[in-house]
Amino acid sequence: MTGLATDETTGPVITVNGRTYRIPVVPVVVITVDGGDPEYFADAVGRDLMPNLAAMLRAGGEFQTGASEMPSLTNPNNISIVTGVSPAIHGIPGNYCRLSDGRIELLNHPDFLRAPSIHAAFQEAGVRTLMVTTKDKLRRLLGKGGVPSVSVEKASGEGLAEYGIDDLEELVGEPAPGIYDPRASHYAIRLALAIWRANRDIRLIYVSLTDFVQHSAAPGSQMADQFFIEFDTLLGEIIDEGFTIGITADHGMNSKHAADGTPRSTTSATFWRPPASRSMRSSCRSPTPTTDTTGLWARSPGYTSPKDTAKPPTRSFVT
Ligand SMILES: [Zn+2]
Repeated sequence: MTGLATDETTGPVITVNGRTYRIPVVPVVVITVDGGDPEYFADAVGRDLMPNLAAMLRAGGEFQTGASEMPSLTNPNNISIVTGVSPAIHGIPGNYCRLSDGRIELLNHPDFLRAPSIHAAFQEAGVRTLMVTTKDKLRRLLGKGGVPSVSVEKASGEGLAEYGIDDLEELVGEPAPGIYDPRASHYAIRLALAIWRANRDIRLIYVSLTDFVQHSAAPGSQMADQFFIEFDTLLGEIIDEGFTIGITADHGMNSKHAADGTPRSTTSATFWRPPASRSMRSSCRSPTPTTDTTGLWARSPGYTSPKDTAKPPTRSFVT
């Protein structure tokens, strides 16, 4: 299912799960903002809180929204992003599954993953890659196939032997925060940057953030603002290092109640995350897990301004 070849026009390419990828000449980083609903970005860019992202937009990058995998949960979507195929092929259709003996099992073990990741195929072909997650449970899945991988959760006292690093926290220059600290996601980006700066031949990096802030804070709230301002500062560092950058999300976020407090679902389903597009949002009342809009892609250089401009936050987030 994987293979290294040479294309006459693009140079070396690798085919993974039926799709062909160029081997990057400049380093590439893909950051998945867990729960990164497009409204957060539209709101923050609209209020000039993310000047680096705005500069990428002006310089001709791309901004798009798209539907996440169904159901719109963390594991299937992270895996779809790194494999380029749907859960039907990669084998991770949810965060949990029911085993044949009736037990409920978390879908975190790499054995459940049936398709190689793009990173694993690149690594196997001799292209240096790096996987950084906030929570360690995702690292095991995302790092399958020999991808050098670290997590914020397990950074303390750990190194990364593949890249000659003895102490991750020493490399970053500060102790790793807990995974329920709003700064944990930023630390994941810092970790990726620090490892790359010590190994500048790494060509493909994936950074998976956590959704603690997005679960807790609506667009425009103080915690969300602090999160995206710091995110943008780190984005500036990545831009300065010459990366090609992709920013996306595993799913969006939405409130469980209308502005007047009326429940928007007839059950207490935790995972109800309806479509973020305006028309679909108003028509969707399903109590079941629902696909939603997630994607925000920015490429350096450039990016076009989001059409979905800022609107006042009117919702509270309930988990
Ligand atoms: Zn998620």
